[in-house]
Amino acid sequence: VGDYVTYELEGDKYVIDDVKPRINDLDRPLIANVDQVLLIFAAKEPEFQLNLLDQFLVLMEKANVHAKIIITKIDLLTKDELLDLKDKMRYYQEIGYDVYMVNSMTKVGFKEVEKLFTDKISVLSGQTGAGKSTFINALIPGFNLQTQEISQALGRGKHTTRCTELYQYNGGFIGDTPGFSKLDFSLILKEEIKDYFIEFKKCDCKFRDCLHDKELGCQVKESVNNGLILKSRYENYLKFLTDIRQEIKKY
Ligand code: ZN
Repeated sequence: VGDYVTYELEGDKYVIDDVKPRINDLDRPLIANVDQVLLIFAAKEPEFQLNLLDQFLVLMEKANVHAKIIITKIDLLTKDELLDLKDKMRYYQEIGYDVYMVNSMTKVGFKEVEKLFTDKISVLSGQTGAGKSTFINALIPGFNLQTQEISQALGRGKHTTRCTELYQYNGGFIGDTPGFSKLDFSLILKEEIKDYFIEFKKCDCKFRDCLHDKELGCQVKESVNNGLILKSRYENYLKFLTDIRQEIKKY
């Protein structure tokens, strides 16, 4: 799904001649040439987790897919909590991720989000229980119904997501994925994970092969201390690094 092909009519059949090279491909769901993944996270219920967000962003960078962040349920936050969340999200915007805050009930923030889909193949993903179905149904009334009907027509249960389909919306296509509470890092090497924290590269650490961990004079650590890099981002980086090292030890 998502491949660009050339095809021609041979007799009464269309035959694919050529599959164009892919700019990227995702595993879950199995879709190629994704222009953007919209990561749906709840501001609350379930608790907003920067750690899980950073995990998603790492995997998106590895897959060479552009990620945008959509935060739902902002109405559940107090004024102070909302300011705090906006503060953190400003950092993500500064390093290059677009962030949108929405309320699927009142459709606050929807005007901007609707425009994101035009001319693009988009995939919706994110945290389990983040209100993704509510969000999609508010955006495209009947969307969930439509996917259920297709599943039934193909003889699959409504919760089966093994097969991927793209749905037309607002001049583009949408692919839906199940929610995730934990992601698989087993295919990432400890040497490469730093490349998926996009702001670390801009830091220009002068040591080749620096893991920005225990090395003295590391520019990334310096930037964390100066407040140029968000502390939680760096802490999550170290945590992922530790996880990967422990994973290696098992074998
Ligand atoms: Zn370094």
